[in-house]
Amino acid sequence: MQPIPASKRAGSIEYAIRDVVVPATQLEAAGHEIIKLNIGDPLAYPGLPTPPHMVAAYIDALQSGRNGYSPSYGIPALRAAIAEDERRKGWPAQAETVYVCHGVTEALQILFAAVLEEGSSILAPGPHYPPYMAYPQMYGATTVEYRLDGKDGWCMDFDDIEAKMNDDVRLFVLINPNNPCGSVVGRTDVDRLLTILEGYPKCILVADEIYDGLDYTGTHVSAASCSTTVPVVTLNGVSKVYYAPGWRLGYMALHDPTARMANVQDALERLLRSRLCPSTPAQWGYLAGLTGDRSWMARYARRVQDQRDYCLQRIDEMEGLELQAPGGAFYMFVRLTDERWAKDDKAFVLQLLQEEHVLLVHGSGFSPEFGSGHVRLVFLADVEVLKDAFDRMDRFLTRHRTTA
Ligand code: PLP
Repeated sequence: MQPIPASKRAGSIEYAIRDVVVPATQLEAAGHEIIKLNIGDPLAYPGLPTPPHMVAAYIDALQSGRNGYSPSYGIPALRAAIAEDERRKGWPAQAETVYVCHGVTEALQILFAAVLEEGSSILAPGPHYPPYMAYPQMYGATTVEYRLDGKDGWCMDFDDIEAKMNDDVRLFVLINPNNPCGSVVGRTDVDRLLTILEGYPKCILVADEIYDGLDYTGTHVSAASCSTTVPVVTLNGVSKVYYAPGWRLGYMALHDPTARMANVQDALERLLRSRLCPSTPAQWGYLAGLTGDRSWMARYARRVQDQRDYCLQRIDEMEGLELQAPGGAFYMFVRLTDERWAKDDKAFVLQLLQEEHVLLVHGSGFSPEFGSGHVRLVFLADVEVLKDAFDRMDRFLTRHRTTA
């Protein structure tokens, strides 16, 4: 019997963050304990649970029978609460143009389907969160990476952006704070970017701000709040700042200061209706997070920041690793300075895993061009676990330096 063919487009999809989990799972099955610093899931580490009042609201929705389909764009009270939250960030968001989705990931797929065509392109940061590369090609589009400067805090290279912008670029992606680099873009750079985008009237700015509550610099701004001319789609949700990634809930909020998005809005709404709705009980849980007590947020962020500071100190003391300190999120993108590993970051990750049972993600998985020679480290584990992980990395680097 002939095997049934799969689509070519699926064959080219890769997700580095989960790809390295396969060998780690094999080691675990053989009885080894792995220190996993690979995944940006706060629930994978003890100490940062989903806030109890959000969990209670989710459970209450389940128990009181709110288990039916919700309206396709989200329950009205949640859309209103999200709009209010975005207004607090400085722009006139309206509930009618907030669309609740199954995470930012679904929002992206719907946005790409609504805007991109054969021959269109999107500009995304290099390095970037992998779906920005994987999904656009499903719609015949191409992702072009603009350079983040690994020698200067991973800030945007505006010359590179200007060289790569053209009329086929329909979406420009700003991930702020950035995954995997943890860099934070402030007002001056957002304004400079908007000035460039003003010259391209068919282009929408996609502002992925899913880590906005984890800004250790105090300089983060909502891109929509800076724009009076360029249309902006803001993305956010429960996964990171509300510590509930398994709920699969996020949103896109449209800012259309020059009234040019009517066709795109219509396309988005058609696509949203055709996939029915996001999870209903999860929406009630998110609503409790947005409307309830938020004092816990600063406490959680402080803990994550302390863990970041510990990693900075260890990397500073270690030979073989170099870092542009992250200003936000819970990632650091660490440069491998030993030539052998700089040339093959995936070999570093796989060998470190085999020999020391520490799991990181290779930088080339976030961008072969701009991420190679790096590894991404997630600093969500507590300091004791991080200490163990850094001791092992140090041992590994030293051993291989002397045997090289
Ligand atoms: N956007 C960025 C930049 C991310 O890093 C991630 C997850 O790591 C997501 C979106 C995923 O968001 P969600 O869980 O809402 O699909």
